[in-house]
Amino acid sequence: MKPKILIIEDEPAIADTIQYALETEGFETRTLSAGQPALGLLAEEQFDLIILDIGLPDINGMELCKSIREKYTLPIIFLTARADEVDRVVGLEIGADDYVVKPFSPRELAARVKAILRRTRNSHNSPPAASAFSVDKARRQIIFFGQPLDLSKYEFNLLEAFVRRPGLVFSRDQLMDLAWEEPNASMDRTIDAHIKNIRAKLKTIAPEIDPIITHRGVGYSLREDL
Ligand code: CA
Repeated sequence: MKPKILIIEDEPAIADTIQYALETEGFETRTLSAGQPALGLLAEEQFDLIILDIGLPDINGMELCKSIREKYTLPIIFLTARADEVDRVVGLEIGADDYVVKPFSPRELAARVKAILRRTRNSHNSPPAASAFSVDKARRQIIFFGQPLDLSKYEFNLLEAFVRRPGLVFSRDQLMDLAWEEPNASMDRTIDAHIKNIRAKLKTIAPEIDPIITHRGVGYSLREDL
C-alpha cells in the first residue's frame, strides 16, 4: 500500500509542486488549502505523514500542529517562509519532526519524507539499536565505538547534529545554520570539507564503515543502522 501524505498548503503552485514530487516517488497525497478542515479529515482518513505550512489563511500552522499532536502521533514536516520561525520549529517544542524553508527543492522534501517514514517505521517494528555514537555534551566530545573522536569545533557541531537525528537528510544550508554562529552562503563548500575531515576521523576507528551518507544535490545524513 502506498504511504499517504496530507499536504496542508494554501499556495496552489507550491501545493501542486509538492503533490507532483511525492506522487512521482510513489506516495498517495491529499491536499488541503486551509488548516481548519485538517482535524476532521484526520478523523476520517488515515495518513502516514503531514506536510504543514506555517502561514495558513485560517490558523497558524504551529497552533494546528499542537491540536493535531493532542490526538495523533504521525510525523509532521513544517514548511516555513521565514528563517526566524526556524528556531521554534527546530526546538521541536511544538512537536514537528522536520522542516524545510521556502523556497525548497521538491526533491529534497521528498527525500525528507522518505527518511522520516523509514525512521518511524523502524522505530515501530524493532527495538532501538545500540548506537555506535554517543555524545558527551559537557566535554564537547563524541564517542564512536567506544573511542573519543578528536574533532574541531565545527566538526563537533556538525557530527552532533547528525547523531541527534539519524536518517534525517540535512541540506548544506541547515548544517551551516546548526554549526556556524554566523552562517554565510559562500561557505557552502566548507561544509563538504568538514564532512570529508569527519569521515577521515571516523575511518581511523572503523575503516570498513562510512556512517555519513551523501545525497547528491541535497545534503548529508547519518546512517540509521549503526
Ligand atoms: Ca502559506
